[in-house]
Amino acid sequence: MKYKVPRGTRDILGSDMLVWNRVNDAIAKITALNNYQKIETPIFEQTDLFKRGVGENTDIVEKEMYTFEDKSQRSLTLRPEGTASVVRAFVENKLYGGRLPIKLFYNGPMFRYEKAQKGRYRQFYQFGIEALGSGDPGLDAEVISVGWQLLMDVGIDSEEVKVHINSVGCKECREKYKEKLIEYYQDKTESLCSNCKTRLDKNPLRLLDCKNESCGAMANKAPSIFDVICTSCDEHFSSVKRYLEVFNVPYVLDKRLVRGLDYYTHTAFEYRNQKATSTQDAFGGGGRYNGLVEELGGPQTPAIGLAMGVDRIVLALLEKQLPQEHLNFFVVSMGEEEVQRYATEVMQMIRQHGYSCDKDYGGRSFKAQMRLADKCNAEKAVIIGDEEMKNKTLTLKNLKEGKQEILLEKQLKQQLERGSLSV
Ligand code: AMP
Repeated sequence: MKYKVPRGTRDILGSDMLVWNRVNDAIAKITALNNYQKIETPIFEQTDLFKRGVGENTDIVEKEMYTFEDKSQRSLTLRPEGTASVVRAFVENKLYGGRLPIKLFYNGPMFRYEKAQKGRYRQFYQFGIEALGSGDPGLDAEVISVGWQLLMDVGIDSEEVKVHINSVGCKECREKYKEKLIEYYQDKTESLCSNCKTRLDKNPLRLLDCKNESCGAMANKAPSIFDVICTSCDEHFSSVKRYLEVFNVPYVLDKRLVRGLDYYTHTAFEYRNQKATSTQDAFGGGGRYNGLVEELGGPQTPAIGLAMGVDRIVLALLEKQLPQEHLNFFVVSMGEEEVQRYATEVMQMIRQHGYSCDKDYGGRSFKAQMRLADKCNAEKAVIIGDEEMKNKTLTLKNLKEGKQEILLEKQLKQQLERGSLSV
């Protein structure tokens, strides 16, 4: 084979695409129900936006960005996540001057140079929402509920997902917490993995979510942010929990949940797939980022967001049941061009009434066309030959029940208009 997709990327087709469509339909529905409006931002941005927005000490910025120079030597980066771009757009378009909070969503490809494996790709897809301009804890709970409801709507069972929540505090209590963590780890550095050793001074919170076994055991015994949390952060978090009850989202408290990005404040959350056997177990997650808008040059603006890994949702659904193609009608047509033109006319008439319909374009025999109708999982076949063309009739066959009858074309049209078919 001469050409292959680049490592960590793949073609999405066949039954995978059917599941993909189902997830995208559910995204369209849940965002409309909750009043989130779509935003499209460029696939690439100035590299500095991500350095500043995602954080210099994150895995993404340190190791994973697809950065390149364009022909004018500008440093650009394929977006590794969506929040920095949405915040840039919020500031650049002065959306802070409009009605707040503004509730936005995006759905598209992201790029990270990661170790490619099942559930972890270099081009992957995220659906995300960002609500900017309100610090209301009810909004934190709404955002968490959107991700939860999406998983339920697409057909993930409630027992398959656990919603982990935590608070990472505000700047002040986080600083205190960092000191406490550094103090706790001080005499344990020997047993830390090399990654954690280097992170201890720069970003000690990240030690809490290390997947290494011995680091994990130490993290379990580490002090919790709730030992040092300030009253206002504590109240915010308690209120989020009360609102989550109203939204009917079950959750577990997870003091080790800190998330990988630097910009989070207050609420952090993650949806974990209970069936996942690998470390790729997060369907998605998010949190509050009350400092990011200011960090990127805008006015002080509280905000909260969520990002769901669409690839991972699709993978979990594919493991449950392979979806089937489906058609309302398949036109089986036998004859020369004149017959095919009549068959095409009937097919178009069916489609114009809002029913899906296809026909053979491969000169197949009658039997082969019936088999094709079956493979497409068509509900009904419309059979057309010379006789039918001359008389403007057709045979309508219910492929599930086997019943059939001959109708005039205009009778089929009337039945489609009424929405009740005779067979
Ligand atoms: P993050 O922006 O890292 O918080 O990612 C949010 C979600 O996107 C994760 O929980 C995953 O479901 C998904 N995700 C992140 N990175 C990848 C990747 N490389 N491949 C597939 N999905 C990913």
